[in-house]
Amino acid sequence: MKQAVRNGYALCDQLGLPHRFASAAAEQDFPVFAPLEYIRRMQPGNPQDPLLLQVLGMQREMEDQGSGLLDPVGDEAAQRAEGVLQKYKRRVLLITTGACAIHCRYCFRRHYPYETAPKGKAGFSRSLELIRQDAELDEVILSGGDPLTLADETLGWLVDELCQIPHVRRIRLHTRLPVVIPQRVCETLLDWVRRSSAAMYFVLHFNHAQEIDAAVSAALADLHRSGAVLLNQSVLLRGVNDSLEAQRDLCLALVDRRVVPYYLHQLDLVQGALHFAVEDAAAQALVASLRSELPGYAVPTLVREIAGQASKTPL
Ligand SMILES: *Cc1c(COP(=O)(O)O)cnc(C)c1O
Ligand code: SF4
Repeated sequence: MKQAVRNGYALCDQLGLPHRFASAAAEQDFPVFAPLEYIRRMQPGNPQDPLLLQVLGMQREMEDQGSGLLDPVGDEAAQRAEGVLQKYKRRVLLITTGACAIHCRYCFRRHYPYETAPKGKAGFSRSLELIRQDAELDEVILSGGDPLTLADETLGWLVDELCQIPHVRRIRLHTRLPVVIPQRVCETLLDWVRRSSAAMYFVLHFNHAQEIDAAVSAALADLHRSGAVLLNQSVLLRGVNDSLEAQRDLCLALVDRRVVPYYLHQLDLVQGALHFAVEDAAAQALVASLRSELPGYAVPTLVREIAGQASKTPL
């Protein structure tokens, strides 16, 4: 992560693109952050590369400043305590960190007030106490930011603590790290995954088949062998993965590697990202075509998050 490219001009230089594709103004709003391991999978000289479009700050982000929302999914209203969100029955989501190993331009948490998330073991101890006191909670979701930016020592401790709470049956991690820096899936990480007595679910975040190379495949195989269930959530992004070919290739590449496509999210209407939006009718037609080509388990559920609903809303 220390070596990651942190501005659009440097990213353009790496790919042999003119600087006019980058926008310093967009970066003021949300800085560029792209690890070298991810950049290596981009096609040099292609301004439409589906990986590049996910990370390069562009002028068109500045065009929806009046209409996009800062908190499109109602995170603020769902806070049960600092860094503990509950929107749905039985499961709480912990904001474990504000850091990510990549900055995705469409991210719905690009304006989240991460300063308020608990820090270190002392911060987590308060979240653990809340979970201990509420026997209805049988699942804990570690999210962020990206929980895998934390040290394995902290994560191993957190997982051990959660496993000691009898009503916690499942631990879920929402992470993009195995996608962007697959080397993060190291032996120390696999150790705490293997020793968890609660069922471990990894919800990964791939948006395009081009994100999967040999190193990523090896990381997925290691995670699978460690006993974790692997799911994927994607965001439907105009110009990145909104064609039948892109979706079919991604879903097949995932199921071949024992990752089950879980959700395909309609974009949350966050300020700065509206140019990625796909109309609902087009999204539904796309998923219907996908269903006619693939086995049922390879087709993700198309959903939108509507603030205040009891679950993600299937479209
Ligand atoms: C999306 C989300 C979940 C997970 O929902 P599932 O349908 O169980 O995948 C849980 N908590 C919060 C706050 C969420 O935003
Ligand atoms: S990794 Fe996830 S949380 Fe982080 S910027 Fe990307 S979409 Fe947002």
